[in-house]
Amino acid sequence: MAETPATRFSTLSLPPAALQNLQRLGYETMTPVQAASLPHALAGKDVIAQAKTGSGKTAAFALALLSRLDVRSFAPQALVLCPTRELADQVTQETRRLARAEDNVKVVTLSGGVPLRGQLASLEKGAHVVVGTPGRVLDHLGRESLRLDALRTLVLDEADRMLDMGFFDDIVAVARNCPAGRQTLLFSATYPEGIAKLAAQFMREPVTVKVEAQH
Ligand code: ADP
Ligand code: MG
Repeated sequence: MAETPATRFSTLSLPPAALQNLQRLGYETMTPVQAASLPHALAGKDVIAQAKTGSGKTAAFALALLSRLDVRSFAPQALVLCPTRELADQVTQETRRLARAEDNVKVVTLSGGVPLRGQLASLEKGAHVVVGTPGRVLDHLGRESLRLDALRTLVLDEADRMLDMGFFDDIVAVARNCPAGRQTLLFSATYPEGIAKLAAQFMREPVTVKVEAQH
């Protein structure tokens, strides 16, 4: 990732504690997709970002959603939809690493194929960030074990894979349960036709960012 001029995280409007935490994690400069998307995402804009696997997309949306949390309120304020349980677990781990420890950010994972009981108990205790697969998130919305009235950020991670897996209608249904004023961030490795359709359904004047493969 050496070709693009290195951009430091300190050029972003992030709180000092968040910058310190990034330094502690060994994150010094932004990856290209982070440098291209974070200024827009931190400014509250809807963003569609396309970049290949391994380019640091998780931190690009996690830093944005974390910047918009009010940790005093234990209502889900960010929801990340992922195609699989494994990816949801990875996003949960990376989001927890990026959340400053002193903020006590609660991240709950709601994946399909996992017993409901533990998920219901976690939701009962309260969560700031929910990461999950579309079907299971819809299931919780139907049971009213999950409410999204306080949602500030909706993230679609690996949107191309979610479309491949047939989640279009589920994603639209989840988005219908989100407040109109929330921010939507969409991340994808490729840009199939369905992405523009998704964006047209529920994104607001998205900024589109595309990072070409590095050689
Ligand atoms: P993607 O979702 O685009 O496939 P990931 O978000 O999983 O990529 O990131 C790939 C790896 O790069 C992870 O191990 C992550 O911790 C690391 N990483 C992300 N951003 C940075 C950064 N700015 N500096 C150093 N490492 C980073
Ligand atoms: Mg990813």
